[in-house]
Amino acid sequence: MIRLKNEKQIDGIRTSCKLLSAMYRELIPLVKPGVQTVEIEKWTREWIRKAGGKPVFLGYGPKSNPFPASICISINEEVIHGLPSRRRIKEGDLVSLDCGINLGGFISDQAVSLEAGKVGSDIHALNMTTRECLYRGIGAAKAGDRLLQISRAVEGYARSRGYGVVHQFCGHGVGLDLHEDPQIPNVPHGPNPRMAGGFVIAIEPMINMGTGDVQVLPDGWTVVTADGLPSAHWEHTLAIWKDHTEILTDDPLG
Ligand code: MG
Ligand code: MG
Repeated sequence: MIRLKNEKQIDGIRTSCKLLSAMYRELIPLVKPGVQTVEIEKWTREWIRKAGGKPVFLGYGPKSNPFPASICISINEEVIHGLPSRRRIKEGDLVSLDCGINLGGFISDQAVSLEAGKVGSDIHALNMTTRECLYRGIGAAKAGDRLLQISRAVEGYARSRGYGVVHQFCGHGVGLDLHEDPQIPNVPHGPNPRMAGGFVIAIEPMINMGTGDVQVLPDGWTVVTADGLPSAHWEHTLAIWKDHTEILTDDPLG
């Protein structure tokens, strides 16, 4: 069931999104070679609490194996849901961050992939293509049109550049819960409802240098590419209005 949001609810979700993007603006300069990913986790958790929010990801998932952190940090061949650890970021790493904030019951969700120091030109191209996939997807998100247009836009652009598109994980409705209907796949499949004013969704292309196939590590969370090649991930939360679409999170690259 798709929950349409009213103007007041979208106001609340927007405020949550702006807070999350403000966090990223402060966090991004700290993500550099030599930094341990657990330091990023500690910084993030404290920042969100000080700002009066709650980290949505912390404790999310099955009771037997809840997500242990407030931010996902996925490096190189890690696609999503990477766990902060004592691992240090190295020059040339592609570091994907994904975080969400609950602010007064309103949920935001945003992911960015950051280049640590100087990365290879192939990694930079993958990263910028993934970011462009996100904007192509957003360009296809319009009231009155079918949802899978988003997936077609994302997949089509990624494939035109020779990349693999992750099909086992997808975007989603968001705003009152972290994961709501509808699912927003990056490769078209499944339900294809007409979008309408009041949709609040997270579009999140995960694009791989090689195959789009992924697998989950034994920790039960970390998703890695099946062929070990790098992956990038960009995500915005957006609101669809009757006559326009509003990106609620801000792009840290401007
Ligand atoms: Mg996310
Ligand atoms: Mg998401």
